[in-house]
Amino acid sequence: MTPIRLLSTDFDGTLVGFEPDQERPDAFLDWLERSGEDRPVWMINTGRWIDSILERLRTLQIPREAWPAWVASGEREIYRLENDAYRPLHPWNAECEAAHAKLAEEVHHAFAFIRGWVGLHTDAVCLYEQTSFAGVRASSIEEADRITAFLDGLFAHYPDLAVQRNDVYFRFCHRNYHKGACLAEVQRLVGASPIQTFACGDHYNDLPMLRADVAAMLACPINAIPEVRAAVAGGGGHVATREFTAGLVEALDIFSSRGE
Ligand SMILES: [Mg+2]
Repeated sequence: MTPIRLLSTDFDGTLVGFEPDQERPDAFLDWLERSGEDRPVWMINTGRWIDSILERLRTLQIPREAWPAWVASGEREIYRLENDAYRPLHPWNAECEAAHAKLAEEVHHAFAFIRGWVGLHTDAVCLYEQTSFAGVRASSIEEADRITAFLDGLFAHYPDLAVQRNDVYFRFCHRNYHKGACLAEVQRLVGASPIQTFACGDHYNDLPMLRADVAAMLACPINAIPEVRAAVAGGGGHVATREFTAGLVEALDIFSSRGE
């Protein structure tokens, strides 16, 4: 059996359910506790920004000693827990910010075109972060699928531009930044190989980390979208029979006892 050295979990819909029904993931915290000396390094790999994850850790009353050693936030930034506080990882976050500033200049016209198309052809809302156009919130899953098809066609002309989708939310990004890239960077820093890495997620934005070449131990809870279930099954992973925390722990139990 290959012990799990690094554990990358999505947050909403994977580690916990969805707001307003989120509960402390006690079964997962118990699993970590039971790992004893084999306790893996835990990383939350989420689309939420760091302040939002901190708010959730506190509101859900996850004990400080159990907080993840690493958080990848906004599907691009990385933070390391040091002395009870999350510090931005350098030079990763600075390079990430620079890449996105450069991208915003390069795709200025594409962004204007997207805003125009969205306004004309959808009921979606354009989203802004620090006054910059950052994404779109569709009014339904069907509309989000239509927006995906539109963007796929447009991106052929802008090779650095990509998008992370979570349910009806889209966030534009540089193609080099996603959950898989963040996980690979943390692997490098903690000295964990893909063979020693477990990754679990439920939606489109998790797909870049749910790849056998990124993490050999793949999983998703039963509530994952069909595309994620297919990716996990295709990568030899475990599609759990339960939702959220229970599904995550089910997969961890299977991988940590496999071959024993
Ligand atoms: Mg999720």
